[in-house]
Amino acid sequence: MSVFGHPEYDSHESVHFFDDTATGLKAIIAIHSTALGPAAGGCRRWQYARDDDALTDVLRLSRGMTYKNAIAGLPFGGGKSVILASDAAPKSEALFEAFGRFVNSLEGRYITAEDVGISVDDMRVVRRETEYVSGLPQSGDEAGGDPSPWTALGVFLGIEAAVKARLDRDSIDGLKVAVQGVGHVGFQLCKLLHEAGAKLVIADIHRENLRAVTDRMPADVVSPTEILYADVDVLAPCALGNVINSVTTPNIKASVIAGAANNQLSIEADGSRLAERDILYAPDYVINAGGIISVAREYFGHSSESEVHTEVQRIPERLHAIFEEAHSSGKPTNVIADDMARRIVVDAGKTPTPDLRIA
Ligand code: NAD
Repeated sequence: MSVFGHPEYDSHESVHFFDDTATGLKAIIAIHSTALGPAAGGCRRWQYARDDDALTDVLRLSRGMTYKNAIAGLPFGGGKSVILASDAAPKSEALFEAFGRFVNSLEGRYITAEDVGISVDDMRVVRRETEYVSGLPQSGDEAGGDPSPWTALGVFLGIEAAVKARLDRDSIDGLKVAVQGVGHVGFQLCKLLHEAGAKLVIADIHRENLRAVTDRMPADVVSPTEILYADVDVLAPCALGNVINSVTTPNIKASVIAGAANNQLSIEADGSRLAERDILYAPDYVINAGGIISVAREYFGHSSESEVHTEVQRIPERLHAIFEEAHSSGKPTNVIADDMARRIVVDAGKTPTPDLRIA
């Protein structure tokens, strides 16, 4: 497995591998950039077919965090971690304590939180070993806790903005929306969409997650392979990445793609393919920034939920700026967003990064 020569390496500042024989924990932390502040991004626990797949995932995810934090205007750089799930290393308190020691060894250059396969309770265990963790339960109206409802809210508002831009409709009432993956974010998004009058089509690989939705609201269930091609107005990928690619794009019927999943596009050229088909793509790391906005407010302290709410409501205006520039330049939305994010990071590199941590 090549690291420096990896196609997704993209000048990462550092990549750290951890192997704890006592608990079986195997994990990777990738720090893409600390130009804007400490690298922040969630921890994903997933069963990868090969170690190489885990490395590819963490590298792509951490670069995405650099871009996400930059465009959201957060004082964070980009990083991410993955825990390689296996029968030899089941979830346990000891495993998450070991992960906490791994995070702590980086002395604050990387801040972790929840991602796929990780719960708030897991992060509470990580907190025993390190202070460089966010997404922990808070009291009263303090900002923080599970980031997924905030991610869902940002995605919902982003869907409304994309529908306005592409379909010239002020409301999603009566529109059909396909949600791929109804886990932490997808479930919350379904609730918001249903309340706004959208008709839901859903898919998941776990039956109990589907039932959690269908027990509470009307939704048509289709198979995980059918969902991408459902006859809907909006497709909201909320499972894993690489779902938009040269095979899937020609058969997508939705006019808008706007969802929570990170790395929805397999490669940059997938954005052009969508634009050629007049499918409006809301860049994933712009629309799904609600969770990291909450994580940041919690980490730096002295913030309320209403401040998180106000900040998440700015996601549509950022998408609007990207849609406008894509329209006037003729470039795909993903290219516009990448350019914007890179400009912010390069400009930040011209001035020293202050110590932003509020005690
Ligand atoms: P989750 O693990 O709670 O939910 C993912 C869901 O997708 C699960 O229900 C899973 O069974 C389902 N799934 C997996 N493969 C599938 C497939 N092939 N077809 C259909 N369903 C499938 O994770 P989450 O926290 O809801 O995150 C969802 C996505 O959003 C991830 O890509 C994550 O990186 C991204 N994201 C999450 C947050 C957050 O706040 N949790 C923030 C930003 C981005």
